[in-house]
Amino acid sequence: MRTLLGGVGESAVINEIRKFELFTDGRAAHVPLDRPDLIVERSKLIRGLAEQAQSHGAKVSFGNRFVSLESNGTGLRVGVERARDARTEELHADVVVGADGALSRVAQAAGWPRQPTVPLVQAIVRIPSDMSLDTVRVWFVPDDTPYFYWLIPESRERAVLGLIGEDGQETRRCLERFMDKRGFTPLGFQGARIPVYDRWTPVERRVGAGRVFLVGDAAGQVKVSTVGGIVTGFRGALGVSEAILNGGESRELRSLRRELDLHLLIRRTIHQFKQADYSRLVDLMNASTRRSLSQYTRDEAGRVLWHIALSQPRLLLLGLRGLLSGGSILPKNRN
Ligand SMILES: Cc1cc2nc3c(=O)[nH]c(=O)nc-3n(C[C@H](O)[C@H](O)[C@H](O)COP(=O)(O)OP(=O)(O)OC[C@H]3O[C@@H](n4cnc5c(N)ncnc54)[C@H](O)[C@@H]3O)c2cc1C
Repeated sequence: MRTLLGGVGESAVINEIRKFELFTDGRAAHVPLDRPDLIVERSKLIRGLAEQAQSHGAKVSFGNRFVSLESNGTGLRVGVERARDARTEELHADVVVGADGALSRVAQAAGWPRQPTVPLVQAIVRIPSDMSLDTVRVWFVPDDTPYFYWLIPESRERAVLGLIGEDGQETRRCLERFMDKRGFTPLGFQGARIPVYDRWTPVERRVGAGRVFLVGDAAGQVKVSTVGGIVTGFRGALGVSEAILNGGESRELRSLRRELDLHLLIRRTIHQFKQADYSRLVDLMNASTRRSLSQYTRDEAGRVLWHIALSQPRLLLLGLRGLLSGGSILPKNRN
């Protein structure tokens, strides 16, 4: 994020993570990070980006909701509802970029198929007394979720404890059981639906003479290994700006697609893992594997995979078995 955004992201960083602790079935592995992971306050980041865009001459009009889009012969007629009086205005545009999230109305209006999503549920909790502020804890509990639980410190007092699941209500029940078992008291809950990247979504469609693009969650640009979409969404935005300027061509989009496909490969290898597989995974993590995980971020999947394969070939076999036994990563109840 720092590389992509420079100074504008800096004010949104509320904490830096320097260590991961991974737990499964009584086992633990510790992975120090060479470059810290950033904990970002998204509302601050969005305000910072808006200010920077305006300082470069962009006109930002807040309090409007996109409602419709159609061809008007020379371009696009865009319907926008103003929040202050609920009146709809019509604007003309040659190009529309939808960055309106997982349930994108722009995507729907321009005819993209609805993308699959999974529920994310997290609770705000008091930070445990034995936990340091620069450490994230992750638990693999495959009976509850093919993803994982996380505990991320946000400040000296607060942390977020959450998981991604497949069914909304069941995911919430799992989180409550998990908190009960480990003595966490929720101070509040947050929930959202996150896109599941199961294939690349072409980011451009023509509507009459107009061009429509999608960016970020709207295009499913989420690493499906960890279900994180902030960095990949920014890369998608960079790619779309290249495509607009270069007649549809973008090197960034090609590279982003490769990255997202690698995360899909990782997800497919571990998605059907049972408890015994996670135990083996943690047991097989040797010093060299840990170094690879320390050195490269989760936005460099290719490098991580390559170095892990070299340092611990038995992990490759474990992954291959997971891949061969794997079915779809999409939840059965696709809502
Ligand atoms: C609780 C939570 C924790 C997360 N943690 C992480 C993490 O640790 N790391 C990570 O990488 N990712 C994380 N993610 C995912 C990450 O937040 C998203 O991938 C990222 O925010 C996607 O950005 P976006 O701009 O594409 O979509 P969004 O952030 O969803 O933004 C879409 C925007 O469009 C607006 N909008 C929607 N409909 C309309 C409309 N009709 N008209 C006008 N505006 C509209 C919305 O109000 C919103 O402001 C998390 C998500 C959640 C919910």
